Amino acid sequence: MTTTIHHTLKTVFGFHEFRSPQQEVVERMVAGEDVFLVMPTGGGKSLCYQIPALHRDGVAIVVSPLISLMKDQVDSLLANGIRAACLNSSLSSGEAAGVYRALENGALDLLYVAPERLMIPDFLDRLPALKPSLFAIDEAHCISQWGHDFRPEYTKLGRLRQLFPAVPIVAMTATADPETRKDIIKQLGIEQARVFVAGFDRPNITYTVVPKQKPLVQMAAFLSNRRDEAGIVYALSRKRVEQVAERLKAAGFSAAAYHAGLPDSERRRVQEAFQRDDIRIVVATVAFGMGIDKPNVRFVIHYDMAKSVESYYQETGRAGRDGLPSEALMLFGMGDVMTARMLIESSDNAERVKIEIQKLNAMVAYAEALTCRRRALLAYFGDQRHDDCGNCDICTDPPKRFDATEQAKKALSCVYRVGERFGMMHVIEVLRGSKNQRILDLKHNGLSTWGIGADMSSAQWENVMRQLIHLGYLVQDFTRFGALSLSPAARPVLKGATEVILGMPRDAAETVQRGKKRAGGRRDYDQALFDALRALRKRIADAANLPPFVVFSDATLAEMARNLPRNPQEMRAVTGVGDHKLRQYGTAFLAEIESHRSERGAVSSRMTDDDLQLTLTDTLRETLLLYREGLAPAGIGARRGLKTTTIAAHLEELHTMGADVDLLRFVEAEKVALIQARLAVLGPGSLSELREGLPETVSYEDIRLVRGAWSKTDV
Ligand code: ADP
Ligand code: ZN
Repeated sequence: MTTTIHHTLKTVFGFHEFRSPQQEVVERMVAGEDVFLVMPTGGGKSLCYQIPALHRDGVAIVVSPLISLMKDQVDSLLANGIRAACLNSSLSSGEAAGVYRALENGALDLLYVAPERLMIPDFLDRLPALKPSLFAIDEAHCISQWGHDFRPEYTKLGRLRQLFPAVPIVAMTATADPETRKDIIKQLGIEQARVFVAGFDRPNITYTVVPKQKPLVQMAAFLSNRRDEAGIVYALSRKRVEQVAERLKAAGFSAAAYHAGLPDSERRRVQEAFQRDDIRIVVATVAFGMGIDKPNVRFVIHYDMAKSVESYYQETGRAGRDGLPSEALMLFGMGDVMTARMLIESSDNAERVKIEIQKLNAMVAYAEALTCRRRALLAYFGDQRHDDCGNCDICTDPPKRFDATEQAKKALSCVYRVGERFGMMHVIEVLRGSKNQRILDLKHNGLSTWGIGADMSSAQWENVMRQLIHLGYLVQDFTRFGALSLSPAARPVLKGATEVILGMPRDAAETVQRGKKRAGGRRDYDQALFDALRALRKRIADAANLPPFVVFSDATLAEMARNLPRNPQEMRAVTGVGDHKLRQYGTAFLAEIESHRSERGAVSSRMTDDDLQLTLTDTLRETLLLYREGLAPAGIGARRGLKTTTIAAHLEELHTMGADVDLLRFVEAEKVALIQARLAVLGPGSLSELREGLPETVSYEDIRLVRGAWSKTDV
């Protein structure tokens, strides 16, 4: 059995090995046992039921709460040649009827369905006849009131076990919390289930926290290093989301806003454009979340602090599902803490307020921590690590310490002088000798501490004050708008009896430098080729109306750009290239890699230009010249007074002779795919034979060009 599931893993999905604990889960499911699987986002849960679905008779029923995700899942399966469909309210009655027919004919391996649809009596009555092979319950925490996303319609799923005692159930979630886990198992009646808990670490995510100084400037600096990468920016309020999105757009970034106050249609548009790489940056409130399964999110920025470590981990977890290096950047400002605190305290549920304040404090402590971020995060989830990760801002650039005794004295005495009744910003203004109206009105310009800190910037003072708060010298009273007062620990400092050692602040410039180093250091493949492959992927995806990641993942493109496969065999060895995708897209990607190779002057089978020129007839030479000017076949034909078909034949001949001619460049990707499908069946036969059954819009020139490219690589 093991060899068979490995065979499926390789030929269908194009993966070389299972991740832990995929293999054991698959084996148990194939054997008909129940499984409970706790795995972080991006861990690879889907494979755990998709392979068993192909190894068991009947149709696997996958319950998923989000219609938008179902379509992408189904598209991804179809792209691998797996027979899958979904049933939900977004289907027309005709489409739904088609799915039912396919089900009755046993023509589906997987069916994705919303819980409310599955549990209607009519559907349940028909289900036994369709022979369910297994039930996979995705986002299983939705069944529990303890979970963070309870959905009443999920509770009905408890009946599945009674109705289908012999059909294995796999429940999957990324939720760590043990209460919720227990509840899921009980409610689904799968007490026998073998439980798998994968580690919670996301090693490919780099965690960075920087003090918020000029957030837009800091963010723009970060983004300008990542011109082509997709990411999410989280902000606290709708208003802020819109402002930030506007500013980014004005600065020339491809960005859009997303929050619950926007019309459904706009939210759908933004989400879809993001999935399709048409919008690069989504600025959003936490409303943007569950529906995102885009694997190539390269960064998540918290423009405003998250309200708990749980939400922070979940939000940053949306980066790097594909396992490639990704960034989580948080801009941390004391002002945001105060805003969050006031929001929480405005509720009149005293119990909730207490809990939420504690959660907020944990978040603040994380942001201010001077220890490895990952250790702090994992410790929070009860997963103790004994070594630093080497992949967070603290590990790669430990904060420098400095003797801040003098600054601390100045700050503490200034707090004292203003009567312990003012907040941090006011104290800083006094220290820096500001003459603003409020200071003049209060006569604070007459204080002995006025202007004694003019040698430091506001940001530097903020850093000192923040650490004084964090270390317990100053107390911030949130019930009095953050007024600062001295704690008993401040006395010895003021008397000169204790030293104060603080961490040096990190500024925006430093973050950018670090970002540059990382971005530069991590790529071991040819960036220009990667970009070209990504552009090709986008053309193919657009033509087929699919999100680009369904065609190939970023990880797969990166491996192509690294290994430079030369033929179908080598292409097949690339992770993520299964048999079906090799047939569908292999030629186009091999051609792109080949043309890149020859452009780079690397070892190539092509003729030198001099050799070529010698062997060409005049008419071919003329066509080649115009091709090199960038003209398409129709344009060349018009210029030369020849038919387009003749030019296409010239190009095919030039290509066969070894000239550097990209035949596929002139054919829309959708047509390329159609023609290649014919070629895969018939081989490179006559044009009219290949033409049969293809849509009217596919011309003989198209077929000739694609056929020309095909015989070259010979899939
Ligand atoms: P989850 O549902 O747990 O968030 P997915 O099932 O979407 O994760 O998988 C995350 C990514 O990892 C996908 O891009 C998937 O193709 C990839 N993946 C899963 N299993 C493997 C594997 N064994 N080898 C390589 N890539 C894998
Ligand atoms: Zn670390």
